Amino acid sequence: MSENTAHSLATRAIHGSKQKDAHGSPYPPVYNTTTFAFASTADLLDVVDGRKPGSLYTRYGLNPTIFALEETLAGLEGAELAWAFCSGMAAETALFLSHGRDGIICIGDAYGGTLELLAAQLPLLGIRTHFILGSEIDRLDELLVGGAKLVFFETPTNPTLELFDIRAIAAKAHAHGARVAVDNTFASPVNQRPLELGADFVVHSATKYLGGHSDLTAGTLMGTKELLLPVWNWRKNLGSMLAPETASLLSRSLRTLIVRVQRHNASAQAVAEAMLGHPGVSRVFYPGLPEFPGHALAKGQMHGFGGMLTIEIKGDVADATGVADRLRLFALAPSLGGAESLVTQPRTTTHHGLTPEERARRGISDTMLRLSVGLEDPDDLIADLEQALRS
Ligand code: PLP
Repeated sequence: MSENTAHSLATRAIHGSKQKDAHGSPYPPVYNTTTFAFASTADLLDVVDGRKPGSLYTRYGLNPTIFALEETLAGLEGAELAWAFCSGMAAETALFLSHGRDGIICIGDAYGGTLELLAAQLPLLGIRTHFILGSEIDRLDELLVGGAKLVFFETPTNPTLELFDIRAIAAKAHAHGARVAVDNTFASPVNQRPLELGADFVVHSATKYLGGHSDLTAGTLMGTKELLLPVWNWRKNLGSMLAPETASLLSRSLRTLIVRVQRHNASAQAVAEAMLGHPGVSRVFYPGLPEFPGHALAKGQMHGFGGMLTIEIKGDVADATGVADRLRLFALAPSLGGAESLVTQPRTTTHHGLTPEERARRGISDTMLRLSVGLEDPDDLIADLEQALRS
């Protein structure tokens, strides 16, 4: 556990870094420098050989602005270490290459880029990847017996908000000597902390809720020191470090993470309830609805239900496209977690790369609209959806 886990999450979000500024600034300045000077060769070697902590070279992550970010991130997830990356995909790639070489099992649905990396690129390097849907979870044992050593999943998933039991999957994987990595992007550490539930790694696209303003691209991987050290050289030599300016922007965003996510949660709940039973909507996928299949599990392992929900429009694909195009406050854009609300059709964006048959197998229909509920007034958002559904 990082030192600052004694404080509550809201305090950690603001005071999570030990990095202090010589001039009294409450937050570390942006060190855009690429390299750092030493008083002597002996001092330089102490840092190069890892005997003393210190700044050295920014691509290695040895830069005070990066340290400050990583300390705060670790505190938020209750991780011993957090490492920053230039994107969520960079964090996943470093994880898969360092800990997935004996085979990776991906459970359930995942972000389209993750699925493509696992299905198309990693096998080119000889890495065996396996995919099981939630309905096939019984096959997990068989795949673990087969020797795969990394289990990866999102919960809630993208875009059907399916939930997986982190404690149960971790127990099963550990019994076979495998590690568990959870993509916690949708939930954020405010709503779910997988390491406390037995996961070994947490990965985030910090581009989403952690950044929170749709103005930065970043990622992070968290876990114990023992498990993150083997990732170090991959991050360093793949050149996956984020720029100090982006790190500073992300640290700035983390200070408001708690209040932002609480508001996302409340507004998404209001939108989900308004959409439930709406004559133009056939289904609402949101963990905060008591009738949603994952609701009980969500209550058991989450602290909030999140800002993401998916609705299925009554009618055909053209009707769903019409609703998406008529929305005024929900911008038609393939991301999530920002201050502004977004709408996306999984068929045209996140899951465009899958065949229609594969989308159908995964329960992703052509009439689905995924909503990222932003920080606007929820009544205005509901009114926007109602006008788009009415036309
Ligand atoms: N994980 C999830 C759940 C995502 O939604 C995304 C991107 O949309 C990623 C990972 C990849 O993150 P990035 O775009 O920061 O590389």
